Amino acid sequence: MTSEGESGFGFGRPPREGREGGREGGFRRDRDRERAPMTAKGRLRAKARKKARKAAKKRGSGAFGRKKVCRFCADQNAKIEYRDPKTLRYFMTETGKLIPQRISGNCARHQRQVAVAIKRSRQLALMPYAPSHV
Ligand SMILES: [Zn+2]
Repeated sequence: MTSEGESGFGFGRPPREGREGGREGGFRRDRDRERAPMTAKGRLRAKARKKARKAAKKRGSGAFGRKKVCRFCADQNAKIEYRDPKTLRYFMTETGKLIPQRISGNCARHQRQVAVAIKRSRQLALMPYAPSHV
């Protein structure tokens, strides 16, 4: 009984200690590596990263925090044309109504242009006036 217990104890201890020692050494080295290149610039960058992370969290957590960006302001190549019903479709409901600015996210200027373009393409029968036309 006693001999078995002792042997078990002796067998279990040394390898554990060895592993722990190895781990500690590794941690210490990693910390040193992270601290060593911390210049003033590096510290500023770390601060900026922290700020950005906080801001991202705030935006993500808030239900109304998402900021809409006008499609046409963001993409300079995107054009509003009455001859292009594919893009105008995006600003129209399934029932053929114009989607309001607060939902589409367009800025005032581009929303006006979209509205005019849709009205023009309706005249040319490229877009619907009423749900029965869709
Ligand atoms: Zn715009």
